[in-house]
Amino acid sequence: MRPRVILHADMDAFYASVEQRDRPELRGKPVIVGGLGNRGVVTAASYEARPFGVRSAMPMVEARRLCPHAVFLPGRMHRYGEASRQIFAIFTGFTPQVEPLSLDEAFLDVTGSLGLFRTPVELAARLRARVREQARLAVSVGIGPSKMVAKIASSLCKPDGLLEVPAESVADFLRPLPVGHLWGVGPVAQQNLARAGFATIGDLADADAARLRAAVGRQAPALQALARGDDDRPVDPGRERRSYGEENTFAADVRDGDELRRTIVAHAEAVAARLRADRRAARTVVLKLKLAERVAPGKYRVLTRSHSLAEPTDDGRAIAAAALALWSAVAPGKRIRLIGVAASNLGASAPAQLSLLDRPADERGRALNRALDDISARFGHGALRRGGIAVERAAPTLAIKDRPRS
Ligand SMILES: [Mg+2]
Repeated sequence: MRPRVILHADMDAFYASVEQRDRPELRGKPVIVGGLGNRGVVTAASYEARPFGVRSAMPMVEARRLCPHAVFLPGRMHRYGEASRQIFAIFTGFTPQVEPLSLDEAFLDVTGSLGLFRTPVELAARLRARVREQARLAVSVGIGPSKMVAKIASSLCKPDGLLEVPAESVADFLRPLPVGHLWGVGPVAQQNLARAGFATIGDLADADAARLRAAVGRQAPALQALARGDDDRPVDPGRERRSYGEENTFAADVRDGDELRRTIVAHAEAVAARLRADRRAARTVVLKLKLAERVAPGKYRVLTRSHSLAEPTDDGRAIAAAALALWSAVAPGKRIRLIGVAASNLGASAPAQLSLLDRPADERGRALNRALDDISARFGHGALRRGGIAVERAAPTLAIKDRPRS
């Protein structure tokens, strides 16, 4: 059988690059995007910030210490969403087999599209050029016979790179790499494996099965298969967004009911606006709370509660009402560190004229929603909230089927 040709396309420092594209004065400067409060987290760091040690998911306080002269920005999700849609439209122009992993990252199975190009590298170069021309952004592309190899290749050729690993070179490519490049091997697992004598992927590929099992338990066979380059998972274009969420960590723990209520409403409106932008409606509302109760060093008690509505909705008030009811049922008076609202159980939003809710009051609600969306589109997300509520912009969350994020 002819080997599959899979691309892993990943935008470079996506949010920070969009900011540098839109604001030329930021080009060449370290730009850090994320939550700007005391407990905020970095969501993207431009390549100019990385030599200082700044990485995404790092606490913002640490990023400020490492790179105090950087430009710090709260992020503009609507702008990143626009860029994302544009990029995915380009991807699907090359193949219908596109599996999104996040707003800025996807697998593409291009096996069936190669006839139009001399080589996989030529196809990938054309894709990169098109993203560069149309979105004015850089995308790195790894090419391999499997998802795993394509993803590792793209991570090694960043930024603005292209790397092909042909099927016959996979073993030579993988063997010298640290085990942390394998899927599912995080920093802690990497340390444990190194201590057990497995530093490189080659060490794992050659490992005695019993010894590896002693080190990693039940996952041993799967890990060894990956280390040997066995990964036949197909690119799955059926994967869909599973939930829309917004959350924030407070600068100081909050107990005050009014502030919590305002934050829940603001999150609900932001979630609803994103649902409407994607023409989706959600049936289940999820409230996530991190209490100021430490259960272990650096770990806090997390409560998640959900409520299913009678009808799917894309309305901020309906989502807020459900989230507020959940909050008053579980945690009134408790000190809260983080609060999040998400909408899941998604479907396409119903055409207005067919909705059972099509009554004058709802028509007014819909008109108000449209007006809010127009204002957001013109002045930036968060320019206006119903009732004048504004909260510090929080980190949006995105969950994709089979890969739920905590
Ligand atoms: Mg990326």
